[in-house]
Amino acid sequence: MFIIRLQFLILLLLTSCGTRKPTAVESPSSDKVQVLCTTAQVASLVSSVADDRADIVVLIQGESDPHSYQLVKGDDEKFRRAEVIFYSGLGLEHSPAITRLMAKKEKLSIGDSIKLQRPELLITYANLPDPHIWMDVSLWKLGVKDIADLFSRLRPEYAKEFQERAKAEEEHLEKVHDQIKTLCQSIPDAYRYLVTTHDAFNYFTRAYLAIDDERQMNTWQPRCFAPEGLAPEAQISTQDIEKTVNHILKYNIHWIFSESNISQESIQRVVEVLKRKGHTVEIATTALYGDAMGSSDSVGCTYEGMMLFNAETITKFLRESGNGSSY
Ligand SMILES: [Zn+2]
Repeated sequence: MFIIRLQFLILLLLTSCGTRKPTAVESPSSDKVQVLCTTAQVASLVSSVADDRADIVVLIQGESDPHSYQLVKGDDEKFRRAEVIFYSGLGLEHSPAITRLMAKKEKLSIGDSIKLQRPELLITYANLPDPHIWMDVSLWKLGVKDIADLFSRLRPEYAKEFQERAKAEEEHLEKVHDQIKTLCQSIPDAYRYLVTTHDAFNYFTRAYLAIDDERQMNTWQPRCFAPEGLAPEAQISTQDIEKTVNHILKYNIHWIFSESNISQESIQRVVEVLKRKGHTVEIATTALYGDAMGSSDSVGCTYEGMMLFNAETITKFLRESGNGSSY
């Protein structure tokens, strides 16, 4: 498994986090499954099952926002070449152009696969699913089985190895889940409140920051807050600032986290308002990976790396919540 991971890591490092330029190796006669994954998180899961039986291209890379991704030159060709498309789903990639290009292709939505298996664990707002389901590793791993089944159907001669790798990946991700939970639960209960710039962390909060009772009673929501309207590229409104300020005061929060692909400018206004009210809150100096997995030289370049990085960053800052003399 380590070798498989290492190969994938090397591939990512060599190709700027998941992009593979078409080469002569990827000829139509190749036995390898030609795969297009919309996001790096999806590609990470798919790669763990396919290993070298597939050539994987990632559509949305680096710091690009998957919610509002616009196709660029060459993307049409990536869809055309793909034998199968894996996407996150649950409304994440909602560009009509992407929907159109996927229409007649073999495809699998990881989010929808998880929703079918555990509908009760889907987080919804105003009847719309929260698409950031990869943020709970124990949920994301549920996508592995359908990936293996699809590859097994496309290349039945390798079905056994797809299923074996899927099983190993499920076991591995279960360990990663436990590791993140143990780390996050080492933060005192009273400090386990996450304020972020974009609402990508609801699944993370429920899985790793909530206390067990809150998870069971579905009352974990106050532990996660993102100003409304702060989707990537959006501007914060006066009303958003007021709501954020009130939440931070109510739960005595001292850290705000930004995300790697979102400007800190808006959230800085929240800090200033709170300062005038005599409450010290700081923006964590390390940004989290929400929708994006970062650049090739960052530790967030694999799904597992991204999740552990987030957990370590959140733990490092929130543990300090009660220590500073200024609080
Ligand atoms: Zn998002």
